[in-house]
Amino acid sequence: RRAFAAVLLVLAVSGCGGDGEDDIAAAPDRGSVGIAMPTTKSERWIADGDNLARQFTLLGYRPDVQYADDDVKAQVSQLEAMVARGDKALVIAAIDGTALKGVLGRAAAAKIPVIAYDRLIRDSADLSYYATFDNFKVGVLQGTAILDGLKGKGPFNVELFAGSADDNNATFFFNGAMSVLRPQIDSGRLVVRSGETGFAKVATLRWDGAVAKQRMARLLAADYRSARVDAVLSPYDGLSRGILEALGAAGYGGAKKLPVITGQDAELDSVKLIAAGKQTETVYKDTRELAKVTVQMTNSLLTGGRPEVNDTEQYNNGVKVIPTFLLQPVNVDKSNYRRVLVDSGYYTAAEITA
Ligand code: BGC
Repeated sequence: RRAFAAVLLVLAVSGCGGDGEDDIAAAPDRGSVGIAMPTTKSERWIADGDNLARQFTLLGYRPDVQYADDDVKAQVSQLEAMVARGDKALVIAAIDGTALKGVLGRAAAAKIPVIAYDRLIRDSADLSYYATFDNFKVGVLQGTAILDGLKGKGPFNVELFAGSADDNNATFFFNGAMSVLRPQIDSGRLVVRSGETGFAKVATLRWDGAVAKQRMARLLAADYRSARVDAVLSPYDGLSRGILEALGAAGYGGAKKLPVITGQDAELDSVKLIAAGKQTETVYKDTRELAKVTVQMTNSLLTGGRPEVNDTEQYNNGVKVIPTFLLQPVNVDKSNYRRVLVDSGYYTAAEITA
């Protein structure tokens, strides 16, 4: 609401009501804001960068969006350049959440506030705020989708995948999912035939679908020659698609029924797989809302206000608890993808059926 009010203010001050481009040109110059995004390999980060840039521009800021191709050093140098240029604030979705302590120190020395976007930045006192989704709940939704998809007494064979260990979110997703799955593993209704259940063992460096595909192929060859896998916990659509490829190569989806398989981000290719009955579930996070909240936080920090937060407990970055705004993730499957994704305008029906 505050961001909206600010937009109205900008429009009123610039005395316009006409064409949008002119309004933007007439907005006051509030300086440049550095926006560091991890990679263009996944759709969501492209949308995040675009949404942030659009909304900062509406308020009169000059956004500079940089992508680092999942290269930690490249992200650090991009941030160094933003600090050197004197950006008013930095909004960062870290590649390696533990690698930015040095550059954040330099930002602090230059009195540039830093906001962690979606992924927490760890081991630094120089982080002001954090905007994200309820990451533990993401995992709970994924774990619950697995239990809902496995009808009957069992036992059922399940394999587990986690995200990149240097991304703080990956642990939250995994812990959330395991809070639901662990009791059933302990009771024997769910069986992990590979025996690989620890986070470090099942993590996937840089969220790489090819790495997940390889690991799934290895597990199928080693542990499923005479058994079938009934469910796969996957924390992200890009991994889910890699895992589905390995399953396809081993006859699943043909002679063998595909397992229940989860995901995250509602990427278009995965929503198509959900519509086709191949991927079971994804967790949708409306990144347009995340951008809104973040721009609002940054603007209120820069204009002497106090950003609104709704969590001051969960996200300790190793040095201090970071005040956080948490948005709610939404479970999406075949039964509701039209309502959640099409009716809200996130995708058109034609994009999904194309
Ligand atoms: C994000 C997820 C995303 C993953 C891989 C995580 O930090 O929260 O939405 O799927 O990174 O890009």
